[in-house]
Amino acid sequence: MNLILLGAPGAGKGSQAVKLKEHYGIPHISTGDAFRSNISKGTEIGLYAKSFIDKGLLVPDDVVVGIVKARLEEADCANGFILDGFPRTVPQAEALDKITAVDCIIDFKVDRETVLKRLTGRRSCSCGGTFHVSKLKSEYCPVCGKKLYIRADDKPEVIEERLRVYKETTAPVAEYYREQGKLFEVDANLDIDKVYDIIVAKLG
Ligand code: AMP
Repeated sequence: MNLILLGAPGAGKGSQAVKLKEHYGIPHISTGDAFRSNISKGTEIGLYAKSFIDKGLLVPDDVVVGIVKARLEEADCANGFILDGFPRTVPQAEALDKITAVDCIIDFKVDRETVLKRLTGRRSCSCGGTFHVSKLKSEYCPVCGKKLYIRADDKPEVIEERLRVYKETTAPVAEYYREQGKLFEVDANLDIDKVYDIIVAKLG
């Protein structure tokens, strides 16, 4: 099953991807995680991407498409994949259509208020975990014990820019897939388990 999770920052794509990966046994490919891993290793791509990410801007299409194409060629993608955070522009969606066929695009519909609450309270871990500050008992990761941090792009002024970019550049991607008859909308204001149940009921 080839899946795409589409939606605004803070819509809960990453949290669902972790659960869907377990359920379907297919890899979770997050372009944001790929960039953060490159940034922490200090690679050339990481340094380049950081200059866009820290401002809330998108990394140029050719760089992102190159990373995704290489990842989709890996053996573990043979039975399917979950793309989280890609495509974010119509040219990226067109490039993906040339690489492989996609079965379903889940569009996470979420209110601005929900997004702001989730992102301003988000604490992240280098193990990939993300948590809401209201549910944490300490500043350490409940999964691996490492110290949690606030993503540079989860600062209020950068969040505003990411939401602007989403509306202008990524929202049209939903229309692109709607025209292909592959878009499935889910109310992502609901809690994580409810959203998961709705998605699994749809996908089977
Ligand atoms: P995310 O973790 O998905 O919120 O991504 C973090 C940041 O990485 C985004 O705000 C962008 O700057 C960059 N990024 C991730 N995926 C893409 C993409 N498909 N196209 C362009 N930039 C991306």
